[in-house]
Amino acid sequence: MTDCLFCRIVRGEIPAQKVAESEDCLAFRDIAPKAPVHVLVIPKAHFASLDAVPTAAVIGAMGMLAQRVAREEGIAGSGYRCVINTGDDGGQTVGHVHMHVLGGRALGWPPG
Ligand code: 5GP
Ligand code: ZN
Repeated sequence: MTDCLFCRIVRGEIPAQKVAESEDCLAFRDIAPKAPVHVLVIPKAHFASLDAVPTAAVIGAMGMLAQRVAREEGIAGSGYRCVINTGDDGGQTVGHVHMHVLGGRALGWPPG
């Protein structure tokens, strides 16, 4: 049991706009969207960052739910980006590993 923000969303203690769920992962809209579609995919179990993820299965489960979200949000055809910011230089601000699913417009590259 942790009081991490995203763990609290998993437990329903903080409201979130859920868009999809699998056995191990949850997907909900980012509170400050950076693109027309901006969904966060997280494992229900707490891992502080990608660096703390213990098995490939966790990343696989996140990736497969991201794929489903992209299809259901209608951006699979136009294209989208999945990002896992990790640590300070990666710009990670919430200490529970999460995959951003961004789409609905052409996204710039490289990131700033
Ligand atoms: P990071 O910067 O760690 O890669 O991404 C964290 C993301 O979480 C940010 O895009 C931020 O807008 C989002 N976020 C922060 N707090 C909340 C919240 O309470 N609810 C939701 N839905 N998203 C949040
Ligand atoms: Zn957590």
